[in-house]
Amino acid sequence: MKYITEFRDSALAQVLARRINIAASPGCHYQFMEFCGGHTHTIHRYGIPSLLPINVEMIHGPGCPVCVLPIARVDKAIALACLPNTILCTYGDMLRVPGSGQRSLLKVKAEGADVRMVYSIDDTLEIAKQNPEKNIVFFAIGFETTTPPTAVAIQNAKLQRLKNFSVFCNHVLTPVAMESLLKIQPKNTTISLAGFIGPAHVSIVIGSSAYEKISATYKKPIVIAGFEPLDVLHAILMLIAQVNAGHYEVENQYTRAVNREGNLKSQRLVHEVFELRPTFEWRGLGWIPNSALQIRADYADFDAEIRFTLPESTGKEHKGCECASVLRGIKKPTECKLFAKVCTPENPLGSCMVSSEGACAAVYAYDADSRKGIRIR
Ligand code: SF4
Repeated sequence: MKYITEFRDSALAQVLARRINIAASPGCHYQFMEFCGGHTHTIHRYGIPSLLPINVEMIHGPGCPVCVLPIARVDKAIALACLPNTILCTYGDMLRVPGSGQRSLLKVKAEGADVRMVYSIDDTLEIAKQNPEKNIVFFAIGFETTTPPTAVAIQNAKLQRLKNFSVFCNHVLTPVAMESLLKIQPKNTTISLAGFIGPAHVSIVIGSSAYEKISATYKKPIVIAGFEPLDVLHAILMLIAQVNAGHYEVENQYTRAVNREGNLKSQRLVHEVFELRPTFEWRGLGWIPNSALQIRADYADFDAEIRFTLPESTGKEHKGCECASVLRGIKKPTECKLFAKVCTPENPLGSCMVSSEGACAAVYAYDADSRKGIRIR
């Protein structure tokens, strides 16, 4: 298949791996973070760590929308689902994310709440039209990639005068989170990030220019890469070249999809419907100013947080869950005592074991040694 098979060519992968091994200076320890969970998935699915020299280390980042949502927001979604006369719709992975006390949307569905898995927000609009006597709430999550469809759906709901549709908005912003990882260096860690692999799909929407200020301010190279294994290997080689040369700039490896400006039409749509939230809590990263979006006053009728009174939740993580450290890249999934023992994809105790983009789920799925308790790279 064009644009896929040629980016999974094992002979070319070996060539890139050899070039990485030659380029990596023996006296240097290169720690690169792949921000996006899609890249984490690729890295483990294709065994990329086994192709890298010992001094090139990939650190998993927080770019999995299911993983970064804090328990307090999951608790609010569960509270919405439990309201009378309500149907709560969301993506499949969100149903299994544990909230406080290990309650999840799937568990409240089993108890009788009307919770439905949808593939897109458009399905939710259809459900709203078919059930005019009920309140239909879409539990919206995601980075810049999933925000434009939510904006379109809210505009369509307004045009169609849908009175029973609203959105519980949890859309978050990539560059702000990336900057917070550099700004607040956790204590007692040996992690020193030399650069980032920038997200693929997010960058199609926001463009490569969105990272230029971060790269210049923190003097870190950022290479935007596609999701195929050769894309990732190529990006690692580009990052090593920048580090070796003492450069720090934004480079675009994913030129077949990303340009500097991004998708201007999508950006306009998002701006019409959403504005910055003053602050938003991220699992693992804490409260970050201007790191998420809220629905503008013009569309307040479609904002579930305005339409419904939701209980406050402090959101208690499962004791022993290391998701917060995993999301910051401070710990590897295998350093969590619960990994593969009590926390598995069938019984996730933390959000990082739910989605295939979560670091714990990716390591569990593709590294058989990790399931036997062997620490992986
Ligand atoms: S293995 Fe489970 S409990 Fe441990 S950090 Fe990962 S998701 Fe959390």
